Amino acid sequence: MNNEHIFIVRCGEVALKGMNKPYFERMLVERIKKLLKKFDGINVRRHEGLIFVRGDKSLDKQAIIKEISKVFGVASISPAVECESTMESIGDAAVQYMIEAIKERGIKTFKVEAKRADKNFPVKSPEIGRQIGAVVLKECKVLKVDVHNPDCLLFVDVRHDKSYIYQDKIAGFGGLPLGTNGKGLTLLSGGIDSPVATWMMAKRGMIIEAVHFHSYPYTSQRAQEKVEELASIVATYCGRFKMHVINLLPIQEQIVQNCPEEETTIIVRRFMMRIAQKIAEKTGCGMLITGENLGQVASQTAEALVVTDSSVTIPVMRPLIAMDKVDIMDKAQEIGTYETSIQPYEDCCTVFLPKHPVTKPRLERILASESKLECDRLIDEAVEADEIVDIFPQ
Ligand code: ATP
Ligand code: MG
Repeated sequence: MNNEHIFIVRCGEVALKGMNKPYFERMLVERIKKLLKKFDGINVRRHEGLIFVRGDKSLDKQAIIKEISKVFGVASISPAVECESTMESIGDAAVQYMIEAIKERGIKTFKVEAKRADKNFPVKSPEIGRQIGAVVLKECKVLKVDVHNPDCLLFVDVRHDKSYIYQDKIAGFGGLPLGTNGKGLTLLSGGIDSPVATWMMAKRGMIIEAVHFHSYPYTSQRAQEKVEELASIVATYCGRFKMHVINLLPIQEQIVQNCPEEETTIIVRRFMMRIAQKIAEKTGCGMLITGENLGQVASQTAEALVVTDSSVTIPVMRPLIAMDKVDIMDKAQEIGTYETSIQPYEDCCTVFLPKHPVTKPRLERILASESKLECDRLIDEAVEADEIVDIFPQ
């Protein structure tokens, strides 16, 4: 049998891209190569609408699968065995494969499902399935065919030059390759929602840059480290990125001193958005990303979102807008941010929290309150004091 690992990687939505398909596939291959750079001598190649990853047998198969499954644009991965496209070779390879499967997993029943990508191949798909099944039955006496619920569903993919045998289809996240859909500035807090929102936009191919607000010394150094840790988990998917760290305290103090208490939260949020917009303009980000969600908290009622939105002209993406909290939490678990997010550290939003925040703010009133502040100066000063942290994948 082959002395190398072979993985068949399927591209999902990328395959639907008509004229632009080669571009998307190239981006996907580049991304897979980048994540597999840590393994020696890996080969990644596009072929007939699939991506083939090959590496020496001594490499850690599970570790390779784990890396590939983190690449956005990958629909599924199958560790496979390669053979010549003749019935004899396919039969031999199928028997070898099943002997290993019996040894490793004690399987007792199987079914062969064949697909003939090469229509010139002399045997038709159902007949390939039948014949290969018969060869396996003859050589592996412990096995029986079960067409309804087999322990092992063996796929045979017959192609022009080579054929492939595999069993598992390990699901990837889907989405589109990183770098195929602009650049967005994400407002990253230490909570559960914003890391998920960031991940979701990156999954659609968006390059990420981040901004985080703190209220030092009311918020601690440890709270910021928690955000950096969250950012680095997100970076394992979307690659290294820059995070702008901004102290919001001078602005919060001005708001608390000059504006009605119940309006402080919404006004702070409008400042966050305007500062983020300025940073986005400076860094070439075409949109903002937040973890806001309809109705989750007082500052996220329909009315509050409208008032927040009207503070900026840049488009604001809110990928979690219609998700339920439990579903967001499940997603956070799946991508690995949840455990860090739930660590109890203070956030700048919880500093100076009003007892009764307005849930139906009116824009004219908010504008009247803000007119008591030197908004432009405060925003410019905050942006100038911007500290940039490089975030690397964990
Ligand atoms: P999260 O779980 O993401 O913190 P949340 O439910 O606590 O969200 P809010 O605190 O109202 O909601 O924040 C809404 C959104 O505003 C966040 O998802 C995030 O995008 C942004 N945001 C909140 N606090 C900060 C912060 N300290 N720095 C950067 N962005 C923030
Ligand atoms: Mg929060």
